[in-house]
Amino acid sequence: MKDLTVARLMAPPQEVFRRLSKAYPFEPYGLGNPARVLLSCILSARTKDEITYPTADTLFAEYRTLEQLCTARPQDLESLLKPVGFYRVKAQHVREAACHLLRFGVPKTTEQLIEVPGIGPKCAAIVRAFGWGLPDIAVDTHVYRISKRLGWTSHSDDPLDTQQKLKLLFPLHQWQPLNHLIVSLGRDTCKPQKPACAPCVLNQVCPYPNKP
Ligand code: SF4
Repeated sequence: MKDLTVARLMAPPQEVFRRLSKAYPFEPYGLGNPARVLLSCILSARTKDEITYPTADTLFAEYRTLEQLCTARPQDLESLLKPVGFYRVKAQHVREAACHLLRFGVPKTTEQLIEVPGIGPKCAAIVRAFGWGLPDIAVDTHVYRISKRLGWTSHSDDPLDTQQKLKLLFPLHQWQPLNHLIVSLGRDTCKPQKPACAPCVLNQVCPYPNKP
């Protein structure tokens, strides 16, 4: 009886993790290469993975070192990054970030990572988790929205509160893939305006009250 009450308020984290892991196999980009993870994260803002990763591959094939990226001509970078959204500002950030990394190395702490041009808290967590293999959870718009729908956070929580609550809900070894799993769900079915609850793999365990 107690379990049913809890299930109505909050989707059981381990059951969610199990279902999402099965539905969305995990293939992180640039794993173990902090500079590559960081620069590709700059490209990824508001851009689909299918566009981001091939563009990142082309970028790293053309510019093989941070020195080359740091001294790249802006118009050459812009032209190469055209497939991703906001390519002009991203080209500038990529160049400035490469110069920063060249000078200081790739940081490991969130505080130092967010000083790199183009890097915010979400990319900082991505670099820590996938570049350095440190336990961290990246909270982006999908993770923020879906954590509320699953009853893991409340409406007054901000992204930092969300990150802290998720860290309490999941064991350390599950932190790294969590962002990928929830982002995949957000792109696939649990969309911002109209979640597609009928085919969703979490339908039976999700407490979201406004299921269409
Ligand atoms: S799509 Fe619907 S059932 Fe699935 S997680 Fe989102 S709100 Fe819950």
